[in-house]
This record gives sequence, C-alpha cells and structure tokens, in this order.
Amino acid sequence: MTKILDGRALAAQLRARLATEVARLRASTGVVPGLRVLLIGEHPASLAYVRTKERAAREVGIDGRIERLPATIEEGALLARLAELNEDPSVHGVLVQLPLPAHIDPERILAAIDPRKDVDGFHPLNAGRLAQLLGPPPDDLLVPCTPRGCLLLLEEALGGLQALRGKRALVLGRSTIVGRPMAALLLAYDATVTIAHSRTRELAHECRRAEILIAAVGRAGLVRGDWLAPGSVVIDVGINRVALPDGTSRIVGDVAFEEAVGQVAAITPVPGGVGPMTVACLLDNTLRACRAQLARNGRIRS
Ligand code: NDP
Repeated sequence: MTKILDGRALAAQLRARLATEVARLRASTGVVPGLRVLLIGEHPASLAYVRTKERAAREVGIDGRIERLPATIEEGALLARLAELNEDPSVHGVLVQLPLPAHIDPERILAAIDPRKDVDGFHPLNAGRLAQLLGPPPDDLLVPCTPRGCLLLLEEALGGLQALRGKRALVLGRSTIVGRPMAALLLAYDATVTIAHSRTRELAHECRRAEILIAAVGRAGLVRGDWLAPGSVVIDVGINRVALPDGTSRIVGDVAFEEAVGQVAAITPVPGGVGPMTVACLLDNTLRACRAQLARNGRIRS
C-alpha cells in the first residue's frame, strides 16, 4: 500500500494554525505581519504564482501585497526600493520573485534584502547558516520554503523527523532554491545524503539505493518506477507541463507517478503535493520573521 501524501490537506492545516497565531499576535501587540512580493516585468506564470501567495497571505491575516515594477527598471532603482522596504517597520517579509530580467543581477538583489526579512531564505547569510546546521532549524532561521515544505511532508510520511537519522537520502537536483537547501536540511537531521545532478553517472542505480528520494529536476517522468526502492518515501518537487494528444496539457512531476504507486511506501502527487506546502511555508516564514523583529524591538518575548 502506498500512502499518497496530501500536500493540500497538510498545507490547509498549517494555514489554519498560522491564522490562529497571526490573530493572537495582532490581539496582543496590534501588529499585523506584512509581506511584500516584488514582481519585476510581465511574466504570466510568475504573476499567477505571486497572486496565489498574496491571496494565501490575506487568508491567514497577513498583510500580503504585490508590488509590480516594470521590466525596464534599473538595478539601482530596485536596490533603492529594497532599502526602503528593509527600513519599513510595517514590512516584516520581502520577497523578489525570480526569474529577474537579464540586466539585473539576482545575486546582488537577493543579498540586498535584509536577512531578517528574507522570507524566501535565499540571502547568503541564511543559506550559510542552513549549510552549517545540525539539528532542527532555530525559530529565527529563515529556511527556503520548498525544502521546508518537503521536510513537513517527510515528517508526515515517517511519523516524525527523528526517523531520518541514518537513512540514505538522494536529492535529485542541486539548485540553490531547492536541491542544495534540501540536502542541508536532510543532513541537519542526520540523514546520509547524496546529491545527484545532470552529470551523475548511473542515476537509476543511485535512486534504487535511496530510502528517501527528493526529485527536483524539472524533467517530466525522469524517475521511472523500477528506479525506486520498495518501501522508500518519494517527494516529487518537479512541475512540468506536458502536451496531451487531444491538444490540452497537464502538469506532472519528475517521477512516473503511476509506476511508483504500489512500489513505494509514500509519494507526493503533482499537483497537490509540494506546491501548496511551499506557499504555506512562505506564510510561516513571514510570521517567524515578524516575531523575531518584534522580539528584537522588545515588543514580545522571544
Ligand atoms: P533548476 O533548473 O535550477 O535545477 C534543476 C537541477 O536538476 C539541476 O541541478 C540539474 O543539474 C538537474 N538535472 C537536470 N536534468 C537532469 C537529468 N536529466 N538528470 C539528473 N539531473 C538533472 O530547477 P529548480 O531546482 O529551480 O526546480 C526543479 C523543479 O522543481 C522544476 O520542475 C521546478 O518547476 C520545480 N519547483 C517546484 C516548486 C514547488 O513549489 N513545487 C518550487 C521550486 C521549483 P545541473 O546542476 O547539472 O544542471
């Protein structure tokens, strides 16, 4: 029997808890957590995604707002806007939606966000802290949202994160957004971690050895059913649009889902697995950032 890990349901639970905590914080301090999502240029997929984030924020009582800036904006003007948001006490979380137009250096932009407001967890300081982590992340460490969502799904699948100790985990993909921070988190929980990528030899063999497999590649159905170890736990991060013979299309993951079911102990579906968890973890990071900033200003106890 394969357990299908319901990311929509788990994300709804997390949002419900966050809504209660946001309401409590507001009642005790009068502060509403503020999130600004900067969208530069016209990128239809990004627009749809940031609207989802804004809506989800508002549903839990966070003041989430999209700021749209033209694709032609100079890097200096974007840096100046970030400096203002860094100083704004009503804004606790700042996120710059990627990808950026080619004339803007993403590294410079991500490094310009106050690390305490860096709710995407991509600032080098937060990435560095995560890379050194042993044990659960401290409350004030902003961990990238997709890996944090994957971790919560693993917790659900395994009945607790202590079960990660000593397990052989394979992270497929080495991006700074998903693969690397995911590997760092698994390592922090004492898994034995392998990172695979496009130059990895004998990928199927590497996958078959894994008790935990996180696929974050962006190749539809790359991981076949017979690549998976019986009884393993599979988290599929991939989002791939594939054309169907009737002219329509659908979204699938990096793992051949139908082949995996019946073979593995647990797997996330695509859609409805990691995606909703990513958005819920962004809200969680916003509340964490808000609390940490209030604690520093002596408004609440940490
Ligand atoms: P990137 O393109 O940045 O990274 C992809 C990684 O996969 C790279 O490390 C690449 O290797 C590796 N790779 C590519 N092809 C192969 C192959 N044939 N065999 C082995 N490894 C391969 O992607 P992201 O990390 O940003 O995203 C990965 C996927 O996750 C995408 O489908 C994306 O849409 C999805 N995603 C989903 C999210 C969610 O919320 N559900 C959030 C973020 C991403 P190399 O480094 O050698 O090039």
